[in-house]
Amino acid sequence: MVGDGAAEPHAVVTGGAGFLGSHLCDALIASGYRVTCVDNFETGRTANVRHLDDEPRFTLLRRDLKECGDGDLPGPVDVVYHLAAPAAPSDYLLDPVATMRIASTGTLNALDLARSRSARFVLASTSEVYGPAGDGVSREDRVGQVDPADGYGAYYESRRFAEALTTAYRTTYDLRTAIARIFNTYGPRMRLDDGRVLSRFIRQALAGTPLTVPGPGTQTRSLCYVDDAVAGLLALAGGSYPGPVNIGSPEPVSVFTIAQEVAEIAGPDAEIVFVEPPVAETQARRPDITLAAQLLGWRPRTSVHDGLTATLAWFRRTRIRHA
Ligand code: NAD
Repeated sequence: MVGDGAAEPHAVVTGGAGFLGSHLCDALIASGYRVTCVDNFETGRTANVRHLDDEPRFTLLRRDLKECGDGDLPGPVDVVYHLAAPAAPSDYLLDPVATMRIASTGTLNALDLARSRSARFVLASTSEVYGPAGDGVSREDRVGQVDPADGYGAYYESRRFAEALTTAYRTTYDLRTAIARIFNTYGPRMRLDDGRVLSRFIRQALAGTPLTVPGPGTQTRSLCYVDDAVAGLLALAGGSYPGPVNIGSPEPVSVFTIAQEVAEIAGPDAEIVFVEPPVAETQARRPDITLAAQLLGWRPRTSVHDGLTATLAWFRRTRIRHA
């Protein structure tokens, strides 16, 4: 929140036209910030920020962050939230070199911007840094082993590099950095073509086709509603804790239960069928959020039922084709 009579603080959100970034922009505007969103719409959508077109405290800078220099953003900046990165497997595997370029050059540019303005810097990192072997409960001090050459390395190694770079700016330049390791987040404006099981259920529910549960359905997911994830990022930015800190839901929910919830919300005609699971199906992954709870006073508040109800209602209302 901005104090009475204080000059408007200025936040820069890279990737602000994406799913998470657009909700972050909304929350910052609501708490009195002036917001500059830097996005090249690689995976973001104009529809995500169109409602801010007439908002005088919102500026959209349609730029590739890799090519952004100091002069592109004049004036003071209080906080830089760095979210620009392909987040869905369908995107980051499409052009792995581009994925690594945004994590390297893009993160360098975002860090240099924060450094030149003595701003707080918040990196939106990911649970993927724990590696594919990270099934189970992930804790910040237990980063798993990853294989940089297994074909998925472009994503998790690029995010690990971004974390290392952020840490280097902290230790070398005393930059006030923070790292959030975000877990599976969902809500209005989420991508429905990102390959995640919940996205598929929502797409199927909207299309009126059966919800396909990869057998046996006992495998679990942790689902954090987007408003809760945004609250976690704001709490992290507001303090001085450098992280990394997990932001996600610690509650495991079975894939079958998720399908049942979606089916119940979708209506009486919704059907569930079981299908063969993919060869490398994740069995379980969820965060330990002890650090976030202790240091930020943060934990998710939205139940899966309420979050899914709001999400499906939004997709039905907007009738946007996402698949
Ligand atoms: P998203 O794809 O919706 O948003 C990413 C945004 O970055 C898009 O608007 C895209 O256009 C923009 N972008 C990409 N390359 C860019 C470039 N070179 N210059 C400028 N803008 C660029 O993804 P999201 O789900 O909102 O994720 C945002 C961040 O949160 C990512 O860093 C992601 O790794 C992290 N994260 C998200 C989740 C999740 O469940 N959604 C989980 C873990 C981590």
